[in-house]
Amino acid sequence: MVMAKNLLNNTSTKKESIRYIVGNGVVTDGLNLLLDNGAILINGENIEKIGKTDEIKEEGIDFIDVEGRLIIPGLVNFHHHLYSSLAVGLSPHGKTENFIHILENLWWRLDSALDEDSVYYSALLGIIDSIKYGVTTIFDHHASMNYVSNSLFTIESAFKLAGIKGVLCFETSDRMGKEEVQKHIDENLEFYRAHEDSLSIKGMFGLHANLTLSDKTLKKISHMKPEKMPIHVHCGEDITDLDYCIKQGYRGVVDRLYKFGLLNSTSILAHAVHLSEEDYGILENIKPIVVSNPESNANNREGKMDRRQIKRFVLGTDGMSGDMIGTLRSLYLLGEGIQESLDEMKKIFFNYQYDILRKFFPETGIFEKGGKADIAVLDYIPITPLELNNITSHLIFGVKGCKVHMTISNGNILYKEGRITFLDENKIIEESKRVTKELHKRYYG
Ligand SMILES: [Zn+2]
Repeated sequence: MVMAKNLLNNTSTKKESIRYIVGNGVVTDGLNLLLDNGAILINGENIEKIGKTDEIKEEGIDFIDVEGRLIIPGLVNFHHHLYSSLAVGLSPHGKTENFIHILENLWWRLDSALDEDSVYYSALLGIIDSIKYGVTTIFDHHASMNYVSNSLFTIESAFKLAGIKGVLCFETSDRMGKEEVQKHIDENLEFYRAHEDSLSIKGMFGLHANLTLSDKTLKKISHMKPEKMPIHVHCGEDITDLDYCIKQGYRGVVDRLYKFGLLNSTSILAHAVHLSEEDYGILENIKPIVVSNPESNANNREGKMDRRQIKRFVLGTDGMSGDMIGTLRSLYLLGEGIQESLDEMKKIFFNYQYDILRKFFPETGIFEKGGKADIAVLDYIPITPLELNNITSHLIFGVKGCKVHMTISNGNILYKEGRITFLDENKIIEESKRVTKELHKRYYG
């Protein structure tokens, strides 16, 4: 692997531990704060002050004029697969007529071909792409079946280099055999324990999905896992997952996880498309975090999560992109379109996101004094009146999902006006191309 320092650019302009102002923009967190011609004073990692530009501007402090653009808190992707970054253009090894074919002929072939280098560059490219869309926190669900031990630590080094927050886990699965599954368990546990006190990187217990996990393995995980360590699992993505659980004697996909004592309010259940009535009841009681991935579900022709049953959820991309506003737009277009409740969409995009983010990273999310300075300046200047009750409409029809003007994470300016500020992107692209050539050779093997 290329040493991380070689990937920094010569000028390395990542701003650290200084005071500066981002102002002359529309500042909002989508909840209660909306300031026309607003500004944020950043001091080191934190927000020192928010107010009208005139009040915040101070002589002698750097002022970054965003010329009327929309300034919102850094975005969060609650379910991503950074390992898929180098998969663009790959041909499946056979049929893709059903979900199992898609797994066996594409994703499982790819994750078996990943090595340390390709895990690192997949992660780094996926993180950089996300930063360009204003994302400052990614919940990643990782698989690299022939590079298990240390894989999460490898991904962590990409997060640290790029400078955003991450919640990482390994997709534990029985599909590689008994000895291998123990390695998956160990990697999850080791990584979680090593990051319990970290303020920027956390661990979860990753599970692939019910359909590749035996009762024996779930029992073992339930015994070995610290009680408060949350799981992150694909749950009811495809009907085969539900059928498998019913065949095993459970009342559903959520029911099976619940029976093994694996669910709590910080568990992440991705997809939740194919659930039983009992499953919905358990969700109501336990209130785990449900992550909908509308673009991925459309891509795999999985149908949609039932939003009459599940009201409280957040969004992920499931490896489809790094673009969260684009994903919100997809949720709208693949949902009810013009009949959508924009108020409900606002809650999904702002309120619930902040609530959940704070369970993992306190002081992150909403704009407030002393909070972490994670900020996205969207490349969008509202022309029509923007109010708190029509902000979702501005995001879906105005911003539409596009690269942002500027991304700030922990007070550091990571991306500005089309350029990553401190990394040598050309070098990263060059290395990634080299690594991809080898990876694709192994994939097509
Ligand atoms: Zn996924």
